[in-house]
Amino acid sequence: MKGFEGRVAVVTGARRGIGAAVALALASRGASVALVGRTFEGSDVPERAAALNGGRAKAFLCDVSSSEEVARAFAEIEAEFGRIDFLVNNAGIVRDALVVRMKDEEFDDVVRNDLRSVFLCTRAVSRSMIRARFGRIVNVASVSALRPPAGQANYAAAKAGVVAFTVSAARELASRGITVNAVAPGFVETDMTAALPGKTRAEYLSRIPMGRAATPAEVAETVLFLLSDGAAYVTGQTIAVDGGLHG
Ligand code: NAP
Repeated sequence: MKGFEGRVAVVTGARRGIGAAVALALASRGASVALVGRTFEGSDVPERAAALNGGRAKAFLCDVSSSEEVARAFAEIEAEFGRIDFLVNNAGIVRDALVVRMKDEEFDDVVRNDLRSVFLCTRAVSRSMIRARFGRIVNVASVSALRPPAGQANYAAAKAGVVAFTVSAARELASRGITVNAVAPGFVETDMTAALPGKTRAEYLSRIPMGRAATPAEVAETVLFLLSDGAAYVTGQTIAVDGGLHG
């Protein structure tokens, strides 16, 4: 399936995991892709994306929690590709701890990387999308925002912030032809979940009605739906991609 020819997409946290899957899926369907990450060391994702879309994929170094770096990187992307049609705010981290033991920096790092980054990147594309009267923004939240577990108060609060930000931004931008939606993955096979202790993994998996984790490609498919013309009248929504975990 093609369908995104002529579109320019920015994907944050595209070095690995879900962001890499989204970038590759977009490239395979004809979009030009700006892959944003703090580093691409050890990653062949930019080269693989470029091989899929005739070379119209490029890596841009940026810490998306930094206002200055976001402003610089998005200016570079617009200069390279001419405009930005799609933004996928995927970059994120976890720093799990019980509240009683959580350090200030564990709270602040998660809010900066998972929530502030969504604001900074959305602001960076908003003006030009408003001018173009077209845009699609998809934020990667989490089922932890919808059903917050113990031990993730920082992450659940940041991702709940992403869900609320999505609704507010969607209302602001709807009249300009811009949609803003979110996906809320459950348990996805990436480095993030590979780092969990075996017992915690088994416990998470046992609670999923489908009985298995998602692949990054399955999350990417839902993101691509929200970017597609088929989702033109969908905005302010959060779609759970969680094998039935939430709901
Ligand atoms: P991952 O494998 O750990 O990849 C996260 C990517 O985000 C990494 O490439 C990381 O860069 C990048 N990143 C983090 N902070 C960044 C920053 N400030 N600037 C630029 N890049 C940054 O995680 P994942 O599982 O693919 O997760 C992707 C998104 O899905 C996250 O928002 C996560 O919260 C969400 N999510 C994941 C799951 C899951 O089960 N895996 C479930 C629900 C939601 P480096 O490579 O440099 O570290």
